[in-house]
Amino acid sequence: MTSNNNLDHVTVSLGEDYSDIRENVRRICAGFPGEYWRRLEEKLDYPTEFVKALTDAGYLGALIPEEYGGAGLPLRAASVILEEIHASGCNAGACHAQMYIMGTLLRHGSEEQKKRYLPKIASGELRLQAFGVTEPTSGTDTTQLKTRAVRNGDHYVVHGQKVWTSRALHSDLMLLLARTTPLDQVKKKTEGLSVFLVDIRQSLGKGLEIKPLKAMINHHATEVFFDGVKVPAENLIGEEGKGFKYILDGMNAERILIASECIGDARWFTKTAVKYANERIIFGRPIGQNQAVQFPIARAHAETEAAEILLRKSAAMFAANIPCGGEVNMAKMLASEAAWHAGEACLQTHGGFGYAKEYDVERKWRETRLMQIAPISTNLILSYVGEHVLGMPRSF
Ligand SMILES: Cc1cc2nc3c(=O)[nH]c(=O)nc-3n(C[C@H](O)[C@H](O)[C@H](O)COP(=O)(O)OP(=O)(O)OC[C@H]3O[C@@H](n4cnc5c(N)ncnc54)[C@H](O)[C@@H]3O)c2cc1C
Repeated sequence: MTSNNNLDHVTVSLGEDYSDIRENVRRICAGFPGEYWRRLEEKLDYPTEFVKALTDAGYLGALIPEEYGGAGLPLRAASVILEEIHASGCNAGACHAQMYIMGTLLRHGSEEQKKRYLPKIASGELRLQAFGVTEPTSGTDTTQLKTRAVRNGDHYVVHGQKVWTSRALHSDLMLLLARTTPLDQVKKKTEGLSVFLVDIRQSLGKGLEIKPLKAMINHHATEVFFDGVKVPAENLIGEEGKGFKYILDGMNAERILIASECIGDARWFTKTAVKYANERIIFGRPIGQNQAVQFPIARAHAETEAAEILLRKSAAMFAANIPCGGEVNMAKMLASEAAWHAGEACLQTHGGFGYAKEYDVERKWRETRLMQIAPISTNLILSYVGEHVLGMPRSF
């Protein structure tokens, strides 16, 4: 496939489709039907058995190199794993971070840190599921975050608050972004931020408090409070003050993986809508015989196909080390919108039964809506494309 922007000389193949992985993921997911997810949601429980099944199959360590105990698979394989989970009606939100948060440690951590943590993350012995970036007062404007880490001898002392930190109560470690040099003492606002591995188990009750945050979906989101939490200096990742760049480095992989979940959701909605449209007889004929029912499903399918092509192009460019920020962001935006349109078509096709919990349509509909907001909202993607791809002025 040849890109038509400034990459005319580059040819990237769409990459493998990993049919064996797809089949195995489908087999695992068959053990976790809609009923399982509905039961969890009623009690706001965590899908411990599901996460264990994926861990045991080695899928959550897919991206960890073999020398550190992982499967050493390329991003495209991880992408396929997450897509299939979502296409099966399951939700990887409970554990997808175990796949990609470790990327910051892998790329910027010391050899000693990698040897200490990665093998245990690959085996599931250590859960690195929590990623503390978003704060209540700074939101998308990450460089304005207020959480401070101040060096004091052989450790840092952290004060501040994070919000929407998913899975913090189901994680042993948290990757934390905090300011180490005050904003008024740095040349650029992106400087002076640092990344730490916080040991949640050791810090709880010693300045660290985690409170569940009730939300529209069962995503195990929390508020995290730091009141003088001591983090050993050896848990600083890379160089002090370079953390913002380290987090940005991981964004492309994260967005490709989230976009894959969107494609999976879109596939589930389309399959479910088509089945119902063919089976439901009203006015003496299948409702799917009416174009007003058929077309939104067909349109969402076309959008999904298009988004998937751009997603596979992004993954191929990522694998070939070709700058792909524009492609990755656009793929994530289009995939999240395709999933939403497929969800809307599916809900509408089901009529009143779309609201019945036992059909799982309303649950998936609520779940897929998140993808247009987190981990990055559509407006921020559009401003990235406007500025960095098309060369218009920065809008904020
Ligand atoms: C279920 C859930 C799980 C999450 N998990 C995590 C997690 O694990 N770790 C973590 O760190 N964060 C997490 N988040 C936070 C998520 O990444 C943020 O909600 C998201 O980045 C948007 O930030 P915000 O909510 O503060 O919105 P704001 O920054 O307040 O923005 C609000 C709205 O205004 C728009 N907007 C803001 N500025 C502009 C502008 N200049 N131009 C145009 N539009 C603009 C945004 O697009 C958005 O639609 C999670 C959120 C949710 C809901």
